[in-house]
Amino acid sequence: MSDYVIPDPEPKEIDEKLSIELRHLADNAVLKAKPQGDERCDNCLYYLENTAEISYCWHQKLRILVGGEWWCQWWEEIPE
Ligand code: SF4
Repeated sequence: MSDYVIPDPEPKEIDEKLSIELRHLADNAVLKAKPQGDERCDNCLYYLENTAEISYCWHQKLRILVGGEWWCQWWEEIPE
């Protein structure tokens, strides 16, 4: 049997970097983790899979995963 002890998980430098980048994106997008009235990510044009609880937002200024109940100022109605 080996004496190797699995180290506790901890964020790496890349995680800190991505966290800061995503924080800036969220701030610029006024991204909120709650809906704005009837406007929410899962009824927005840019939400890729509108039946999923979490999906990819393909708005050119975001391109990140967002929650279906979130909202940002770039919300756009899905055309009929
Ligand atoms: S553009 Fe904004 S409201 Fe629309 S899916 Fe992306 S984050 Fe949500």
